[in-house]
Amino acid sequence: MSDFLMPTYARQPIAFIKGEGPWLIDEAGKRYLDAISGIAVCGLGHAHTAISKAVCEQADTLIHTSNLYRVEIQEKLARRLCQLAGMDAAFFANSGAEANETAIKLARLYGHKRGVAEPEILVMEHSFHGRTLATLSATGNRKVQAGFEPLVRGFVRAPFGDLEAARRIASERPNMVAILVEPIQGEGGVKTPPSGYLAGLRSLCDELGWLLMVDEVQTGMGRAGRWFAHQLEGIRPDVMTLAKALGNGVPIGACLARGPAAGVFSPGNHGSTFGGNPLACRAALAVIETIEANGLVERAAALGQHMLEEFTHLLSDLPGVIDVRGTGLLLGIELDRPCGPLVDRAREQGLLINVTAQNVVRLLPPLILDDSQAHFLVEMVSELIKDFLQDNQES
Ligand SMILES: *Cc1c(COP(=O)(O)O)cnc(C)c1O
Repeated sequence: MSDFLMPTYARQPIAFIKGEGPWLIDEAGKRYLDAISGIAVCGLGHAHTAISKAVCEQADTLIHTSNLYRVEIQEKLARRLCQLAGMDAAFFANSGAEANETAIKLARLYGHKRGVAEPEILVMEHSFHGRTLATLSATGNRKVQAGFEPLVRGFVRAPFGDLEAARRIASERPNMVAILVEPIQGEGGVKTPPSGYLAGLRSLCDELGWLLMVDEVQTGMGRAGRWFAHQLEGIRPDVMTLAKALGNGVPIGACLARGPAAGVFSPGNHGSTFGGNPLACRAALAVIETIEANGLVERAAALGQHMLEEFTHLLSDLPGVIDVRGTGLLLGIELDRPCGPLVDRAREQGLLINVTAQNVVRLLPPLILDDSQAHFLVEMVSELIKDFLQDNQES
């Protein structure tokens, strides 16, 4: 471990020197099937030629000019994203937390413009929105917040998936102006709300004039088998945030807005030096083109469904397995006990997986996975879980 890095991460003792599609290769030349995709970032896998070509070309032409000037490629990306999402305007940032900061600032300004001096935002238990002060305050996980008090005020929490609770809180909070919610909670344990939940929140926001803001940082860009996971519910939010897979590894975040929300900011209200620079926008445009040209949104839906069926068949009757769930290529297997050590066991066998919320195996494979790689992944993960449950019998 490096003496010169702040110890903010509990890193696994391995480094990769090269990537190839869904594979990562370590210093010894050993290959690993990557079922995390850099935490839902490399949806097109590693070293995708369309992306590397676009990034190289752009680096050779123009990397950065700042937002003091028009950036044509940023305008182009904004138009493409708005078309895909049915939104009206975009702001570009460099990460998910920054995209959510933008949404939070937008909601507060929206509130102030409506005469609410201390606007509040409804957020959910077990949510994850980032590590900046405002986004960790919005996050529903004490571990993320502990030690960083005083938290940013103005967030009110409700249980995720509970529409009645949201309605009850709504009736008690006259200063509420917006809801910030993940369509599917990723870090929180791959949790899908009951069907009708987002549509119910949409109605609530319509009734009260609140903004419905969806955090699609993890679920967006095809991962959930739609361009954006909220589209599964047939609704449109007022604000949507994106990051992770948007640049396939080139840092870029976005906050999109529609209707009145799209006109809240004026010059001087918000900004970012790097946000939406030509390099990042070129990468994101190449990502969108590649997803489209290869039908990868539909592919994620079909392959995810198939893998979910295979996992259900292999695991759901096993004692110790509580639930097998997922949407598109965001898959979770919940066990009845903490299963962190599975990550090391899998890696030793050449497979990269993740465990979140302590007892949920989370899989975020790239959208370019082929059938045999998917099958191999399901078989390996299932065997690992079976062995792990055998070796770790509950006493
Ligand atoms: C990862 C994530 C974030 C934070 O994104 P960063 O780029 O790490 O700041 C925010 N919201 C959700 C839902 C995420 O999964």
